[in-house]
Amino acid sequence: MGRSLFQHIISRLLGLLGITIQEPPAEQADIIFSKRIIPEAEHRIPRRLLDDNALKVAYRLQDSGYEGYLVGGCIRDLLLSKVPKDFDVATDAHPEEAAELFRRSRLIGRRFKLVHVRFGRDLVEVATFRTSHDNQVKQDDQAGRQCDSGMILRDNVYGTIEDDARRRDFTVNALYYCPKDHCVYDFANGYQDLQQRRLRIMGTASDRYREDPVRMLRAARFAAKLDFTIEPASEKPIFELGQHLSKIAPARLFDETLKLFQSGHAVASFTELRRLDLFRYLFPQVEPLLEQDIPEMPVDTLVLNALNNTDRRLAQNKSVTPAFLFAALLWYPTKQLMEKLIREQNMPQLPALHEAANQVLAAQVRTTAIPRRFSTPLREIWELQLRLTRRSEKSAARTFEHPRFRAAYDLLLLRENSGEALDGLSQWWTDYQTANPDQRHSMSQQPATAERPKRRRRRRAPSNRAND
Ligand code: ATP
Ligand code: MG
Repeated sequence: MGRSLFQHIISRLLGLLGITIQEPPAEQADIIFSKRIIPEAEHRIPRRLLDDNALKVAYRLQDSGYEGYLVGGCIRDLLLSKVPKDFDVATDAHPEEAAELFRRSRLIGRRFKLVHVRFGRDLVEVATFRTSHDNQVKQDDQAGRQCDSGMILRDNVYGTIEDDARRRDFTVNALYYCPKDHCVYDFANGYQDLQQRRLRIMGTASDRYREDPVRMLRAARFAAKLDFTIEPASEKPIFELGQHLSKIAPARLFDETLKLFQSGHAVASFTELRRLDLFRYLFPQVEPLLEQDIPEMPVDTLVLNALNNTDRRLAQNKSVTPAFLFAALLWYPTKQLMEKLIREQNMPQLPALHEAANQVLAAQVRTTAIPRRFSTPLREIWELQLRLTRRSEKSAARTFEHPRFRAAYDLLLLRENSGEALDGLSQWWTDYQTANPDQRHSMSQQPATAERPKRRRRRRAPSNRAND
């Protein structure tokens, strides 16, 4: 019997005796923590779709006297007939105990200790049941830590499967598959929420978002990916708590950004992030431009087209890179700053671009850390936007040879298709790629009109004009 059900019965008995107990807060009222076992005949998850390695890990744990379940997104996705991204295992074995059972395992994490079990190129993540920090009485008081805002700094307080269900983020992510009886264990009505396509956070929404503000991004991501509706009480606090994301390590926000925009649901995620007013906390330099309507800077169209492009590529099993994604998203803040430097400081175009890139990226990495392996090609993609405007035979040939040509050309296409006035430059490059040497020669004789450096004319004495 679930512990909360027990508490519920006690409170009813007390009620009959005329003793009232405090009602749970409204946000929490409709989560009933009671164990429900959904048999295979009802949930119908085909056994062949379960990951062999995750099953091996769960069986091994169970054979060694521990509990072992497949849990989280994999069960949620299988119930929705989607292909899970990864399979996670939950157990009552402590990380050190679990690690001992598997030869090819590694203990990882400090904030959240986990065991990674390797199977060739595959990896199964084994997490010990966690409990809420209020329950850390007899455990090591260093195991869990929260800061003043309520944010969890360390989450290594262990508990039972029911405790573990409560500390998970959404009810649909708290479904446990037992490989022994093939049943799904549901402690928080997640199965019903899933059938009603509803995303509901566990517990009091505002507390859970304060504990870990990334849950707000996860809400946006799951709503987009699963096409779920965020239940009102789970959604409401998001509008007020977005700024808590500024406390999250930029490296973690970078990872979350990739999950949002490189998992095949980028357009839906962007729409959801904007609706929940969270996009500004990931791309603070882009948000203000989205709200302006500058015809020569079709920011929202470019962003949407870039994300659409990413979704399409992933659907076709083509590769995507964060370098391109960030180059597209941050193009207009960079271009705007470059033009300002040219206009106000009379800087030549290339140094102005370098300076703008430095400033924009320095501001961006304070929010989402972009590893150098992506920021270097990203800068090249931007630099090539300038080089692509030069159509002389030699210059075009050199640009075409550049390792980043393809990505740069793709960005150029996106810019022009989004409405930026580039005077047919992308068509020129489209033709160039299939042209033979003679054709390329005659193409480069065409006047290059697009994207001429816009330098502010200095007032000069009339005699100098002839040298212009
Ligand atoms: P996907 O893998 O498709 O992105 P997922 O739900 O499996 O979705 P993971 O990040 O793999 O997401 O996490 C696995 C499980 O761990 C989740 O389903 C959830 O139960 C739990 N979890 C992950 N992140 C959090 C969090 N920030 N707060 C609470 N629980 C979390
Ligand atoms: Mg997962």
